Amino acid sequence: MTEEQTKLFTNKIITVEQIAPEAFILAMPRLHDFVPGQVVGLTLDETDPPRLYSIASGAREDEMRILFNIIPQGSLTKKLSKLKKGDRIYVTEPFGSFYGKADPAFWIATGTGIAPYLSMYRSGLEKNKVLIHGSRSLDSFYFQKELKEKFGDHYIRCCTRESDRDVFKGRITEYLRQQRNLPTDYKYYLCGGSEMVVEVRDILVDKGIPFGNIVAEIYF
Ligand SMILES: Cc1cc2nc3c(=O)[nH]c(=O)nc-3n(C[C@H](O)[C@H](O)[C@H](O)COP(=O)(O)OP(=O)(O)OC[C@H]3O[C@@H](n4cnc5c(N)ncnc54)[C@H](O)[C@@H]3O)c2cc1C
Repeated sequence: MTEEQTKLFTNKIITVEQIAPEAFILAMPRLHDFVPGQVVGLTLDETDPPRLYSIASGAREDEMRILFNIIPQGSLTKKLSKLKKGDRIYVTEPFGSFYGKADPAFWIATGTGIAPYLSMYRSGLEKNKVLIHGSRSLDSFYFQKELKEKFGDHYIRCCTRESDRDVFKGRITEYLRQQRNLPTDYKYYLCGGSEMVVEVRDILVDKGIPFGNIVAEIYF
């Protein structure tokens, strides 16, 4: 770990808001500049190693927001969900190289893996982008109303357990397998669990996407 990944800065919670059955948005003042797509480390105790979270807010906003899920067997996320205004939290400087850029791209995520793309679009990078989000339930397409308005037909939801009009029924991998003529000159950003990232990468390579156009951020 480099110094920027471990040096802790004291910050104060502004809000922690539940936005779906298992998902929360934590807001705190932004202490540092960052590139959309980067992460910060968070911990509540200086002796506990920080866990990493993608920044979900725009690069010019005064607040820095994090989208997180409660991991039932985890140690930090349950505590994060109970924080109140004014509570202390330790945060590292932003780091990482999963950078949002202006080039045409597919932004592909499962679950809270949508967080870096929220930051990218809130930083004005949504032009020429196709956002594909996979989730088990319809209520886990975080910010779907806003994203639908922003991306229109370029916002695709893939849901495995529930159905709805305009929502692809099945996994993100099934959706991508069915696509013909995926542009080979676009970048493909993948963010989420390692299984999804590896499977999607293999599908894209099979479909002729150059390996160098695939950029991945693995959460666990
Ligand atoms: C680069 C990066 C960015 C990340 N960004 C985010 C983000 O924006 N939002 C977010 O919610 N999480 C994100 N994570 C995951 C996060 O760092 C923690 O792993 C997660 O919040 C669990 O923390 P915990 O202390 O509650 O659980 P821990 O005590 O760390 O873990 C307990 C157990 O749960 C497993 N586990 C950890 N994370 C997950 C998960 N997401 N799903 C299923 N099992 C898991 C671990 O393997 C372990 O066995 C990111 C991880 C990385 C590496």
